[in-house]
Amino acid sequence: MSFKMELEVALEAVRQAAVACRSVQSLITTESLAKKDNSPVTVADYASQALVCRALQQHFPQDPVIGEEGAAELKLPAGAEFLQRVVEECARAGVTGSPVEVCNWIDRGGASEYSPRFWTLDPIDGTKGFLRKEQYAISLALIIDGVIEVGVLGCPNMPSGDPSSPDGVLAWAIRGHGAWAQPLDRPESAAKAIEVSATDVTSELLFCESVESGHSSHDWSGLIAGDLAIHKEPVRMDSQCKYLAVARGDADLYLRLPTRKGYQEKIWDHAGGVLLVLEAGGQVTDINGAAANFSQGSTMAVNEGMVVTNGKVHSSVVASIDRHAPK
Ligand code: AMP
Ligand code: MG
Repeated sequence: MSFKMELEVALEAVRQAAVACRSVQSLITTESLAKKDNSPVTVADYASQALVCRALQQHFPQDPVIGEEGAAELKLPAGAEFLQRVVEECARAGVTGSPVEVCNWIDRGGASEYSPRFWTLDPIDGTKGFLRKEQYAISLALIIDGVIEVGVLGCPNMPSGDPSSPDGVLAWAIRGHGAWAQPLDRPESAAKAIEVSATDVTSELLFCESVESGHSSHDWSGLIAGDLAIHKEPVRMDSQCKYLAVARGDADLYLRLPTRKGYQEKIWDHAGGVLLVLEAGGQVTDINGAAANFSQGSTMAVNEGMVVTNGKVHSSVVASIDRHAPK
């Protein structure tokens, strides 16, 4: 199967979701940040999920979607004002729907069980980065029989490298057909193939990790950096933009090291990015060297953390992680 139609629908849906996310992000002020007001990200999260799930419902009504959000809170009387804002953001992105329709679209993303064919969606991955006006991503993937066939990442604040449209990247992969990127705002431009770096000397590695030390252990990565004599400072970035960074060779390695036993990674935090890196020539496993497993429902119950590399240094990095694992 070529999955051409699936890709087209997914790209258009992610572009539309990015319009809503950008519109909401532009309203964030230092004042709202100081007040720790999370409402912008909540509105954008729901609008993004509504827009993507609506597009999937229109074109692939049989496909379940395992998404991060559900509309339960929006349907409560206390959620009415939020819901109105979500409806308005969808309209601003070009999609009009009644409050009931918008809730129904969001709830289309409420599946959690594994099925032979499903989509997984993170409507805004990296909510902390979104609020800081830094990096965040919209991540969408199609999984069939546990294998990612299509992966799409919308990264509205990543540099595109195109001076005519410098902010925002849309990147995607179809299994067996490479990894591609184009400026988010230039759908008419020719997509460029992306590939991982050629770095094979571990001391020369540039690695990236979460900004949040609660999401990935900075202490552990510091030990690995020392062990491998890595001299470059880590790049800390929110969201699956880290997968894009490795896929296009901005970084050589992305480490996600568990901060505690028992945390199960969520499939929507990885699926869009994993195929991108694999198709760009890289390698992805968990910290034990096991392949990322997308057949357990909404969590990656049989994996621990994640290790994403250009492939050349993978085994050395996994061995170092093991040497420095907390006892
Ligand atoms: P990042 O932007 O890379 O820091 O990752 C953001 C994602 O981390 C969110 O979408 C959460 O689902 C996920 N997350 C939340 N708590 C944890 C945790 N304890 N360990 C790993 N990831 C987490
Ligand atoms: Mg996420």
